[in-house]
Amino acid sequence: MLFSSAKEEELEISSQFEKKGVLYYEVKLINRGIICKGCGTYHTNVKEYIHKKIVHSIYYGKPCTILFKHRRFLCPKCGKTAMDRNPFCSESCRISDQTILNILSFLKRYNNPFRAAAEYFRVAVSEVIRIFDRYCQMDRNPFTKVMCFDEVYFSRKRKKKYVLVIINFFNRAIIDVLKDRDKRTIASYLKGIDLKERNRVEYACIDMNDSYREVLPRYLHNATIVADSFHVVKRVGKALDEVRKKVMRRYESDKKSDGYYLLKYREEILFGDSLSDKPVYNRHFHLPLSEFELMRKMKELDKELADAYDLYQAYLSFNNTDYMDSLKALNDLEEYINSCKVSGIKEFIDLSNTLSNWKTEIINSFCKLKGQRVSNGPIEGRNSLIKKILKIANGYSNFDRFRNRIIYSLNKFATHSFRPD
Ligand SMILES: [Zn+2]
Repeated sequence: MLFSSAKEEELEISSQFEKKGVLYYEVKLINRGIICKGCGTYHTNVKEYIHKKIVHSIYYGKPCTILFKHRRFLCPKCGKTAMDRNPFCSESCRISDQTILNILSFLKRYNNPFRAAAEYFRVAVSEVIRIFDRYCQMDRNPFTKVMCFDEVYFSRKRKKKYVLVIINFFNRAIIDVLKDRDKRTIASYLKGIDLKERNRVEYACIDMNDSYREVLPRYLHNATIVADSFHVVKRVGKALDEVRKKVMRRYESDKKSDGYYLLKYREEILFGDSLSDKPVYNRHFHLPLSEFELMRKMKELDKELADAYDLYQAYLSFNNTDYMDSLKALNDLEEYINSCKVSGIKEFIDLSNTLSNWKTEIINSFCKLKGQRVSNGPIEGRNSLIKKILKIANGYSNFDRFRNRIIYSLNKFATHSFRPD
């Protein structure tokens, strides 16, 4: 159906034809007359018809144009002229209300870029963007009990390459996106939020970034700062990876060596939390080997690498412990930090400093809410969708538009503000 049934009753279609793949409908409103605003006379006297071309895309990829004959009345008594209604769109617009609604609902899907909307609905990309900017000025969402702060890479063309994404831990809704992660930006943003609302926040989960830790407690007075455990594990993994690279460099001159093969092509088994003992035929060694046996070979390459691996595994098992008692967790963490310090491995000595510096926040990460540890883990998926939005669009140059798109397309209940008459 081309028009809603209510509209069809008031329309007169005088002709329809197809030209270059576009459907044209020549229509006017049935003349129901008008009450003159000048003298109050009811009349049906037409002065002229003004022809208007309106994009009316109802079906994806099926272009349709309305040739609307817009009636102008002329009062036979006082001579005043008046336009009849336009049931398709507002006066200044050449796109029907229904098309605008379709474009906006098409853009609700995060993986539909502006370009695709333009193609489907046969309007210019700039027009799609204009519609989006006009009707998708998104408000932030209210602060909640548990909030995650995480950064997402935005653009290499900007001086500040990362934006800060704030997410509700429990339902993963995007609360807001800030243009960068500078202390000053975060501070002025938080300052602008009502104290009562800020005081609602009981937990703020962050990666090990000093500026978050410095600024957030100044404004979120009731928030316990939690270091995201996934991020901490990544940081420990980085220490192990640096040791791996260091050892690998020694084998670089002989690319066919066992050492080079293991460290270059089988590095993934270093970072897993378990090793399979199922033998799989290995083309390098020409015999079936399990991950367990490969790891043994890897450890034989270098004592430091073997120790680094054990330290990494020790952190994983610390991190996976279900602590009921934070004092016990603190003891274990301190013991771990100490074993890094005395390991003699530079990368793990550096790590021990970072971990010491973040002890409190790491211990905070063991507390559970509704059976779940507070972390940025559950929001990882949101961030990957944000990255997809960027990728599909080949990047955004306009931050506000990017922010609006994220909030509009990733929050299920977010709505646009277009309300046709
Ligand atoms: Zn009149």
